Amino acid sequence: MDYKSTRGEPGSVSAAEAIIRGLAPDGGLYVPEAFPQFSAEDIAAMCALGYRERAARVMAPFLGDFTREEVDGLCAAAYGDNFDSQDIAPVRFIDELTGFLELWHGPTSAFKDMALQMLPRLLTASLKKRGVERGVCILVATSGDTGKAALEGFADVPGTRIMVFYPEGGVSDVQRLQMVTQRGENVRVCAVEGNFDDAQSGVKSIFTDKALAGELAGRGWFLSSANSINWGRLLPQIAYYFSCYCDYVNAGLLICGDAMNFCVPTGNFGNILAGWIAKQMGLPVGKFICASNENNVLTDFINTGVYDRRREFHLTNSPSMDILVSSNLERLLYFISADAGRVSGWMSQLAGCGRYEVDAEALAAIQRDFAAGFCTGEGACAEIARVWAEHGYLIDTHTAVAGAVLAAYRCGTGDDTPAAVVSTASPYKFCSSVLASIGVNSAAPGNELIARLEKETGTRAPAPLANLDARAVRFTGCVKPEAMRAGVEDFLCRG
Ligand SMILES: *Cc1c(COP(=O)(O)O)cnc(C)c1O
Repeated sequence: MDYKSTRGEPGSVSAAEAIIRGLAPDGGLYVPEAFPQFSAEDIAAMCALGYRERAARVMAPFLGDFTREEVDGLCAAAYGDNFDSQDIAPVRFIDELTGFLELWHGPTSAFKDMALQMLPRLLTASLKKRGVERGVCILVATSGDTGKAALEGFADVPGTRIMVFYPEGGVSDVQRLQMVTQRGENVRVCAVEGNFDDAQSGVKSIFTDKALAGELAGRGWFLSSANSINWGRLLPQIAYYFSCYCDYVNAGLLICGDAMNFCVPTGNFGNILAGWIAKQMGLPVGKFICASNENNVLTDFINTGVYDRRREFHLTNSPSMDILVSSNLERLLYFISADAGRVSGWMSQLAGCGRYEVDAEALAAIQRDFAAGFCTGEGACAEIARVWAEHGYLIDTHTAVAGAVLAAYRCGTGDDTPAAVVSTASPYKFCSSVLASIGVNSAAPGNELIARLEKETGTRAPAPLANLDARAVRFTGCVKPEAMRAGVEDFLCRG
């Protein structure tokens, strides 16, 4: 399987090369040239397997330069004791039509681990295959969860360094503490004055800075990305849609071949796009319901075909979805329009004037597979309270956005297809909002709130979150976006 750029750069590259590069040289994203196909029998056979084996079957056809044994080995290593559930991505059913796909049993308690426990392994294996001798420095802009998950994935991995930028004041207490206390000799963490989009554009411009690349090459380094623009981030996420479907069949909610829906709390459009790719591979899915918070640029886009980022940016209680430029949408536009020229045009309009509009045909194609809705911060709190009261099940604010949007979708359309709410973070990552939602005083530092949430609900915090306050803070820097480049130089040339 080879990969080409969404912006039309001629030629194609292997999976290993696409993963090493992250972004294509023309600024586009790498996409596979075709979708491997899974029949109903293939999917039925997967139902009898565990997560690791399911993931290996889904990923192997995309990784042409890896043997099946290598892919099996990668999956066994990425999805092992580092997860606190044997099932890796278990489903918690709350009624005969609805379950929560829990993607937060990895080391950082958010769904980014599903990809970022795999990516460093894929990347170092790819470097070896391609005979690359230089070290790789991973640059990450994070709205909260990616940064920690990437740090945890890359900490002390030989031949790599990692530098993470997060928006100052744009992440939760627990998220910030998780990052600034990160262990590892090859890591650096830095706050940026501004919001996530400022941090992300800063990182993007560093990637396209040829002078910097030259200087770093002289020092034996090159830059790559762990953001979901990297194909190696997206690929592992396709697997859990298949796995979830199998769990629905095994639980008797579906007969193999029946369609199910997924409601996905969405920011950068990576998670939901991975699901859409699973559908292109043969997974029976009706609708993907795209759930946003007040930063509802995707709700408007899916409903009208107009993408317009020129709007107020809201800091919400689901910070990992506080995004106005959803990078992975570019891949969807490429797949549905099959026209790199048009995609380049839309992306340059977005960069230039902050808006583009797709044609009626593209919009119709999008609406065949996607529905969209949004939920306010208050609505998310109400959903946390409702699910806790009715089902004794605790969810976080991001998951609650999706839960509320699914309920509204079912109400509005009458579509009662069995559906999964994709649960993207442990409620313990967002203690303050969760406590407030269930009517408990939440005015205290993050680490005290963890103990309070345990006591009030009789649930247990994931182990890595329970002892955060005992760790020393290692990183306190904060820079303006224009100083990010100098920070990278300092880290790699002097650090
Ligand atoms: C990253 C993240 C999201 C958004 O996922 P995308 O792939 O960016 O759409 C949602 N919830 C949580 C908890 C996240 O960390």
